[in-house]
Amino acid sequence: MTTAGKTCKPALLGGPKSITEDPGDLFTWPIVTAEDEQAVLEVLRAGKMSGNDVTKQFEAEAADYFGVRHALGYCNGTAALLGAMWACGVARGTEIIGPSLTYWATVMPAWSLGATIVLADCEPDTLCIDPGDIEHRITDRTRAVVVTHNYGHPCDMDAIMAVAHKHDVKVIEDVSHAQGGLYKGRMVGTLADCGAMSLMTGKSLVAGEGGLLVTDDRRLWERAIAFGFYERTGAGRYTDGKSEITEPDLVPLRGLPLGGAKHRMNQACAAMGRVQLRHYPARIAEIQKAMNFFWDCLEGTPGLRAHRPPAKSGSTMGGWYCPIGLYRPEELGGLPVARFCEAVSAEGVRTSPGANMPLHLHAVFQEADVYGDGRPTAIAHSDRDVRQGPGSLPVAESVPERVFSIPWFKHYRPEAIRAYAEAFRKVAGSADRLLEAPE
Ligand SMILES: *Cc1c(COP(=O)(O)O)cnc(C)c1O
Repeated sequence: MTTAGKTCKPALLGGPKSITEDPGDLFTWPIVTAEDEQAVLEVLRAGKMSGNDVTKQFEAEAADYFGVRHALGYCNGTAALLGAMWACGVARGTEIIGPSLTYWATVMPAWSLGATIVLADCEPDTLCIDPGDIEHRITDRTRAVVVTHNYGHPCDMDAIMAVAHKHDVKVIEDVSHAQGGLYKGRMVGTLADCGAMSLMTGKSLVAGEGGLLVTDDRRLWERAIAFGFYERTGAGRYTDGKSEITEPDLVPLRGLPLGGAKHRMNQACAAMGRVQLRHYPARIAEIQKAMNFFWDCLEGTPGLRAHRPPAKSGSTMGGWYCPIGLYRPEELGGLPVARFCEAVSAEGVRTSPGANMPLHLHAVFQEADVYGDGRPTAIAHSDRDVRQGPGSLPVAESVPERVFSIPWFKHYRPEAIRAYAEAFRKVAGSADRLLEAPE
C-alpha cells in the first residue's frame, strides 16, 4: 500500500482502464484445427460412433503418455470416477474419504454404490486435501481415499500414500484438473492405485466429452471393464467375441455389465482426444511458460500469492486448468476479495472471487434423501452421523474469501501477459483508496 501514491487511479474509481486491447486467441481453448475436424469426420462418415476400435487406439496412446499399462476411455469423468470406485472395492456399507473442496463428481458417485462419503479439509496454500486430516477419519469401513489435484496443483502424494498404505486403503487420484502435471518429477494420475479424470471441453486435456481411467493394476482395469463395458467382456450376442477379462472371478460373469452401467466413450470424442493428446505436451509447455511468467511479474505483490509448487521442486501445474490466485486480505487492509475482483474487472480483466464451494455445507450433503432410504443419503448406510456442519472444515470454508480466478493464458505473449499482471498489481496497490471510497 506504500505504492498507492505512485499508482494511477483504479478504473473502478474513474482512472484509466488497464486492458483495452482485444486478447485475440490468447484464451481460446480447446485449440481445434483441421486435424481434429478430419479425425471426427472420419468417424462420422464410417458410422463408427458406437464402436471401440478408435477408443482402443486412444487408450493405447493415453497409456503411453501417462506411462501406465492400462487406460480405459469413458463417456465422461463422472463415470470414470464411479468405475474407479467400484473397481477399488467401494460398495454398500463402506466409506470413502475425499476433499470437501472439489467438484462434486470426485466423491458423489460413491453414494450410488451405497457407500458413505467422509469429507476432509484442504491445505491453505495448495488447496488440495490435507494429508494430516485423513488418518483420523479412517475406519475399518474405509475402502478408498479420493484426492483431487485442485486447479492443477499436485496433492502431497507421499504423505497421502503413506497413510493409505499404513491402513491398507486404496487411493484414487482425480486428475480432471491436472493432466500432464508432475509431482516430484512423476506424472500425476500414476502415483496411486489409479487415476480417473474428465476430458470434457472445459478441461485442459479435451476429448469433447469424455473420461479416462489410468492404472498399472490389471485387476482393477478388468473390474472397471466388467462394471460398465459389457461389450468388451467377450460374451453375449452384442460383443465382438474378444474378451479383455481374465480374472477367474469375473470370467463367469461376462456378457452383462455388473454395474448395469454403460460407460463407453463416443468414438467421435476418442478421435478428437487422439489429436488433442498428440499436441498436448507442446501446448501445456507453452501454457506453463505463460502462467509462470504471469506470476513472476506479480512476485512480491502484497495480498497476492501464486498457487503453484515451488520452482525446482520437480512438481508442475499440468495445463493450469481454471487457475486461481491466493488472496491474503490481511495484507491489503482487509479489502474483501469481492471488492478486489470488482476493481480488477473494471480494469478490463475477467476475474471472480472464490472457487468451488465446500461440499460439506451443501443441503444435498446435509439432508437430501436421494434413494428413498427414509434418511439422508449422506448417512443412509452408516452407523454414525458423518455430516459436518459450519466450522468443521475451516480451511475449506475460508477459501471463498481467500482465492480469486486469474486469466488462463494459452500462449506465451510476454507483453500482453505483463499488462494483465500489472492490472492486478495496480488494484492491490490501490487497496487503501478502494477501502476509502464509498462502494
Ligand atoms: C470436471 C470434473 C469431474 C467430472 O467430469 P465430467 O467429465 O464433467 O463428468 C470430476 N472431477 C473434477 C475435479 C472435475 O473438475
